[in-house]
Amino acid sequence: MQKDNGKIKIIKSPGAMLAFSKKMLAQEKTIGLVPTMGALHSGHISLVEMSAKNNDITIVSIFVNPTQFGANEDFSKYPRRLQKDASLCEKAGATIIFAPLAKDMYPKTPQTFVRNTVLENMYCGAYRKGHFSGVLSVVAKLFNITQPHNAYFGKKDFQQLHLIKEMVSELNFPIKITGAKIIREKSGLAMSSRNEYMSAKEKEAASSIYAAMKEAKKLSNQSIFNTIAKLKEFIQKKIEKAGGKVQYIEITNKNNLMPLKTLTELKTNAAIILIACYFGKTRLIDNLEL
Ligand code: AMP
Repeated sequence: MQKDNGKIKIIKSPGAMLAFSKKMLAQEKTIGLVPTMGALHSGHISLVEMSAKNNDITIVSIFVNPTQFGANEDFSKYPRRLQKDASLCEKAGATIIFAPLAKDMYPKTPQTFVRNTVLENMYCGAYRKGHFSGVLSVVAKLFNITQPHNAYFGKKDFQQLHLIKEMVSELNFPIKITGAKIIREKSGLAMSSRNEYMSAKEKEAASSIYAAMKEAKKLSNQSIFNTIAKLKEFIQKKIEKAGGKVQYIEITNKNNLMPLKTLTELKTNAAIILIACYFGKTRLIDNLEL
């Protein structure tokens, strides 16, 4: 594999990355891509391992993409630790790291975006204007630069995963998208690079998100709630009791992310709970399939 001084190689230039991928394709190697923003944890590593198992070449992209952050969001304080991330990826079986600079990804102010005009304004998109067009556009760029056969995303960001699958299908990208299960702390808290913004106390309290969803699922299976609103209210109260502030809770059809409004709809569709909430200043998202 491509290594410098026994270490996994880090490619910074988009041109060099494309040249590497083309060379691998000419050798009939299969390429897996794991797009990340770095500050890697076991959730990311599970994706790298999945790719390494199923492809000859695994590219991990590490790029804190400015176009998916709102003006008042955490772009500048987002944790960055490339060397440590690279060594974690190497241990997990990655072949190469693609860590471009923003000036090389966006040599001029971008004018061309990929958008999902319906879902970009719903759920997380309602509170993070422009976020999903930033995500879809950078993922489209990463696909073009790395030329993968397979790309791996976590179900943790369920709306994002859905939008990427839609983009690939609607725009005919010849790429297979695999969604991987959410990796959680022992407490049940979904792993996230943003968890490190929280104090130990806040982290403990934030484990109420998963606990509340799990309990709601159990009670829902026992037909305890007589409306969807009651189910949502149950989760909200549990999170608030633990000190969290709910931004939204939605019960949606898992396959098209449209909201489910009645218990009959809930019973007759594959459903998922989507949540965003704050513990202290940290915004967390999570979900649970019903
Ligand atoms: P990020 O670095 O936050 O952009 O995440 C990169 C990829 O890792 C995305 O596909 C995420 O959905 C995925 N991911 C993040 N956290 C987890 C987790 N706890 N379990 C599984 N996948 C995750």
